[in-house]
Amino acid sequence: MKALYPGSFDPLTLGHLDLIKRGSTLFDQIVIAVLENPSKTPTFPLERRLEQISDATKNLERVKLVSFEGLTVECAKKHNVDLILRGLRAMSDFEYELQIAHTNRSLDKSFETIFLATETHFSFLSSSLVKEVARFGGDIAHMVPDLVQEDLTRLYEGI
Ligand code: ADP
Repeated sequence: MKALYPGSFDPLTLGHLDLIKRGSTLFDQIVIAVLENPSKTPTFPLERRLEQISDATKNLERVKLVSFEGLTVECAKKHNVDLILRGLRAMSDFEYELQIAHTNRSLDKSFETIFLATETHFSFLSSSLVKEVARFGGDIAHMVPDLVQEDLTRLYEGI
């Protein structure tokens, strides 16, 4: 079975990476699909987000990296996956994720969404929280992969 793991990954955190690692033991292939949203300016351009993920997953088998614009179900169709994988950190994620899952199913019944509960010690992590900590010079070594740490440190240096 092939799973699509879509997201903004702006930037990738150790929580995302944990989900990718665990997913790659459950499925034959995980297609990480990085969203390019033309109506939003990301902190990191798409190319850099792809490099960050590629570097962090270089030793993982069964992982494929793609980018997409537009509907997740179209991306799922294009890459011939069987299901969509998303992470649940807390109840607060549940309502939003359920809404997205229902929307995707209303658009195309061929894809189920599967949720993995995040590892407890990563459940507080989000890309935006990591950026806040980095902006104020806090230690983010336990939150993000090395390359992301370097990028964030460089980004907020001198601000
Ligand atoms: P989006 O903008 O689509 O929500 P994100 O990059 O924020 O994209 O998240 C992509 C997916 O990763 C979502 O399913 C989200 O719930 C999950 N996720 C986010 N943070 C974590 C974490 N700390 N641990 C595990 N999964 C996470």
